[in-house]
Amino acid sequence: MNVNKASGHAVDLAQLPGPLFVVQKHAATTLHYDFRLQFGDVLKSWAIPKGPSLDPADKRLAVRVEDHALEYATFEGVIPEGEYGAGTVLVWDIGWWEPDSSEELQGAKAANGRASAESANQALDTGQLKFVLHGQKLKGSWTLVKMRGRGENNWLLIKHRDDAARVGSDIVEEEPRSVLTGRTLEEIAAEETR
Ligand code: MN
Repeated sequence: MNVNKASGHAVDLAQLPGPLFVVQKHAATTLHYDFRLQFGDVLKSWAIPKGPSLDPADKRLAVRVEDHALEYATFEGVIPEGEYGAGTVLVWDIGWWEPDSSEELQGAKAANGRASAESANQALDTGQLKFVLHGQKLKGSWTLVKMRGRGENNWLLIKHRDDAARVGSDIVEEEPRSVLTGRTLEEIAAEETR
């Protein structure tokens, strides 16, 4: 994958020890954060209007959207007017994820030796996925849980209480820039629409 090695924030995606995760900050019709987890060769995706929070008290609405191709994970730039998702995209965080093994070990699924990827697929189907993120901004244990009775696509992203939790913090305000290039949305828009 094409990652800007000059930024000092380069992530060697070929060397990740697990499946990829990425959060793309996207100034489309409205600003949102696209949270994507690699499942095989696709990125399962949720659009989070307020973005992720490291504060376990925050339950962030995450609207399930269509899968994206794995190659899209490192896209940063401007989607032209008239195209789907028109607006500026910034790679806000990137890294890898794994099912939360402490949870998995408690489940019957672990006992019969299922691959963790299969467990994750089942968790997605049942509407509750617990996982650990290894990113630059987002770390530790999280849950994505489907909201009951609120339509098919409405989930919540919640940080678990652990060493990576930060009560009262606002990570999207504190760290607005691209992890790949260090740029803001405004800088990307200015540089790429000249
Ligand atoms: Mn989007």
